[in-house]
Amino acid sequence: MKTKFIFVTGGVLSSLGKGVSASAIGALLESRGLAVTLQKMDPYINVDPGTMSPYQHGEVYVTDDGAETDLDLGHYERFTSTRTGKANNFTTGRIYESVIRKERRGEYLGRTVQVIPHITNEIKSRILSVARQSDVVICEVGGTVGDIESLPFLEAIRQLRYDLGVNNCLYVHVTLVPYIGTAGELKTKPTQHSVKELREIGIQPDILLCRSDRLLPQDIKAKIGLFCNLPADCVISAADVSCIYEVPLVFHREGLDEKILEKLGMWARHADLSAWEEIVRRYREPRREARIAIVGKYVHLVESYKSLNEALIHGGIANEARIDFRFVNSEDLESQAACDEVLGEVDGVLVPGGFGERGSEGKINAIRWARERGVPFFGICLGMQLAVIEYARTRLGIARANSREFEEDCGEPVIDLMEHQKEVTMKGATMRLGAYPAVLRPGSLASRIYGGQTEISERHRHRYEVNNAYRQRLEDAGMVFSGTSPDGGLAEAVELPSHPWFFACQYHPELKSRPSEPHPIFREFVSGALEHRERRLPRDGSNGSGRERETEVERAVRAAAGEV
Ligand code: GLN
Repeated sequence: MKTKFIFVTGGVLSSLGKGVSASAIGALLESRGLAVTLQKMDPYINVDPGTMSPYQHGEVYVTDDGAETDLDLGHYERFTSTRTGKANNFTTGRIYESVIRKERRGEYLGRTVQVIPHITNEIKSRILSVARQSDVVICEVGGTVGDIESLPFLEAIRQLRYDLGVNNCLYVHVTLVPYIGTAGELKTKPTQHSVKELREIGIQPDILLCRSDRLLPQDIKAKIGLFCNLPADCVISAADVSCIYEVPLVFHREGLDEKILEKLGMWARHADLSAWEEIVRRYREPRREARIAIVGKYVHLVESYKSLNEALIHGGIANEARIDFRFVNSEDLESQAACDEVLGEVDGVLVPGGFGERGSEGKINAIRWARERGVPFFGICLGMQLAVIEYARTRLGIARANSREFEEDCGEPVIDLMEHQKEVTMKGATMRLGAYPAVLRPGSLASRIYGGQTEISERHRHRYEVNNAYRQRLEDAGMVFSGTSPDGGLAEAVELPSHPWFFACQYHPELKSRPSEPHPIFREFVSGALEHRERRLPRDGSNGSGRERETEVERAVRAAAGEV
């Protein structure tokens, strides 16, 4: 079968959940037995998002092949079985970089190099290159229609339908249909304008996904269809949902998968959405609750911890538990007394990855607090490095133990660069990025978490490592290095057998968690937290879900997940 292409654009304003929509389309097509792959084009000049601030751009998502990509690729991997890589995300900067390189090499044979056809050809070849074995490629155009930046991408997808034929390409446009309370009406004008803008550049959308706080009534669909030049049954209501994993179900009820297949002239079996129904059921009807503190620096920006939040939700789903997120700014944890006050009521402490010194002392305080009080602790990347520093300081009495990252001339660099990294001056070149194998010690918590497996592969994004010069002393003091690189040279996971649940890893397990396949570390961490809660709180007979007492932060988390 020839590969078909679905192009997803966005109109009216950003943050309409284009990435989740594209992912949900992927999930629906997979539920009908089709092989899909997803791709994102980002209209900014940065060559990749690796160097962009999490404040501006949200999380940097890392793929197996070590690409630092847009966080939408995380949605793609959570909603579908696709494994993305370098080819699945590219920016304007990347396109120009390669066209300019070709020009310098003389590959254009003296011709004038222009946006059309040279830039658009480069874009098209990258879109076509991901097709491989897929039945359908879903390609998301970043930005909002009407932006100057996204024009070359839109021109390229316009040309592709011309190149590949009308039955092989489909344009899906995501817009907003706001409800204006004072008028008591749903407003279609922003959608009309956005579609007009698309049509001006030669793209007639085939399907509109209309975000709205309610289902669109038939007359509104008919009106949008009339003004936007498409049948009313191609106007799909994308009403707000309380759980993003419900989106495939909502789209299916609106007949989206059937419409897509009809338009692309494809045949596929009926959708089997039972797995999604079960995920949503477990999310909606938790039997228990675990209160997890995430101690970090970007705590006010849930987008920076996107995969982490999702992975915790998955861990909750695996345990039929709701996660009560407590985002804690590590700068508020200047002492053990402060930790008592802020963390006193939590069931588990998680210190996620991060860069830079700010807030690290507070994170170390939180780790010590959790370790000494037997509260489940899970450290990721920087979280593991700080756990090692804390142990060296408190248990080995090395008061000045620190990371070379925070103290260039550190006398006790428990966390350090490896020898070969020291000569490299370009920071980017020294990062360990992407999938690396690790071996786990038999009988350890690590190998139990992974179901007895002793060889694993996980994704990395870090520069510093545990300094092997301190390893023996740490081991002698009770810290177990339960995961290492296959040659034993790099520490990958540490744990404390004397503690009810204390585990930290150098890699980022959150990147590989899916609602249908929660990552085992998150599953076991949540389970450990639930056990701690049982010890902490007497049973009161309620289901403990506490939905009725939603805090500001919880609401913010759900809002960021596109649920409110
Ligand atoms: N800053 C640390 C390093 O570079 C940890 C990175 C991270 O947590 N992703 O090694």
